[in-house]
Amino acid sequence: MKDKTGKLIVISAPSGTGKTTVVKKLLEKIPNIAASVSFTTRPMRENEREGIDYFFVDKRKFESMVDSKQFIEHATVFGNYYGTQKKSLLIDLKKGINVILEIDWQGAQQVKEKMPSCIMIFLIPPSKEVLLSRLKNRGTDSKREIENRFNQAVSDLNESNKFDYVLVNDQIEVAVENISLCIEGNLNKLNQSELVDKALKSFYETN
Ligand code: 5GP
Repeated sequence: MKDKTGKLIVISAPSGTGKTTVVKKLLEKIPNIAASVSFTTRPMRENEREGIDYFFVDKRKFESMVDSKQFIEHATVFGNYYGTQKKSLLIDLKKGINVILEIDWQGAQQVKEKMPSCIMIFLIPPSKEVLLSRLKNRGTDSKREIENRFNQAVSDLNESNKFDYVLVNDQIEVAVENISLCIEGNLNKLNQSELVDKALKSFYETN
């Protein structure tokens, strides 16, 4: 009998790469796909909804979930806890639903260890300048927060070699198409290496 288990797709990206928008578009484009909703101790932002963007819990609750091994992965990002609940993920995969995890690189590594067949994708911004302007234009963070997120993004880029695919998010539609190719295993159409080199170089050049 044909194995109907869903595919697990892990998408990581430095803050400000536009990952959330890309994931939204993927959900519209690809049939039979869902995004896992993470748990976090981060305060809810104005435009967010409980159970849609995250399950918002306090530290005590999160720690008790860690102790009772409810997470397939969890990590601290910008001083807050984030985690992916194991049970709901396994149920969806078993039903044959393809599931996207939009998580940081530390969590991605934990998932790879536990579920090696997952498809690991790292999205990067097209350049340092674009990342800075995206972080500033979000308007949800203070100047200090933007600086922190930028520095963290530069450090996160060093982790790109841990992923199966590194893709540039310049035009959303193109990024979505490229992620679809990775999910389908249609790699001969993927043409990213020059763009990736150019993007990474922009972060390490001193001027
Ligand atoms: P934000 O607070 O801006 O929504 O997310 C901050 C970072 O936490 C992002 O890199 C996001 O991908 C990551 N993140 C969100 N949910 C999870 C999760 O369940 N596990 C891990 N490890 N990272 C997460």
